[in-house]
Amino acid sequence: PMSECLFCKIRQGEIPADIIFENDDVLAFNDVNPQAPVHLLIIPKKHISTVNDMVDDDQLIMGKLFSAARAIAKQKGVSDDGYRLVVNCNEKAGQTVFHIHMHMLADRALTWPPG
Ligand code: AMP
Ligand code: ZN
Repeated sequence: PMSECLFCKIRQGEIPADIIFENDDVLAFNDVNPQAPVHLLIIPKKHISTVNDMVDDDQLIMGKLFSAARAIAKQKGVSDDGYRLVVNCNEKAGQTVFHIHMHMLADRALTWPPG
């Protein structure tokens, strides 16, 4: 439930995070266990557990995650070199926090396919 959601607690300031970007709908903060020199998480302020739990009205909010990613990439100076955006859905993809989040990874060469 939302009351126990780690990222809702970060949004509410109940758990500290290194906030990188914020607007009315979106919050971004550094990943606590970075997998690249730039590794941050971009979340909707609205609690949505997984991509499977999106309703049609959430399309606009999810688009705003991409707009935030674009702004953050520019701010970090990684737009031209490149960056990876990842959304894991459910256990087999490696989702561990059940509040939708977009990973942004940058500042090192990333391999494909991912593990
Ligand atoms: P995922 O595996 O896609 O669900 O990603 C969850 C991410 O959240 C992982 O990369 C974790 O390192 C990160 N994470 C877990 N707890 C925190 C926290 N308190 N602050 C920032 N990032 C966190
Ligand atoms: Zn949440």
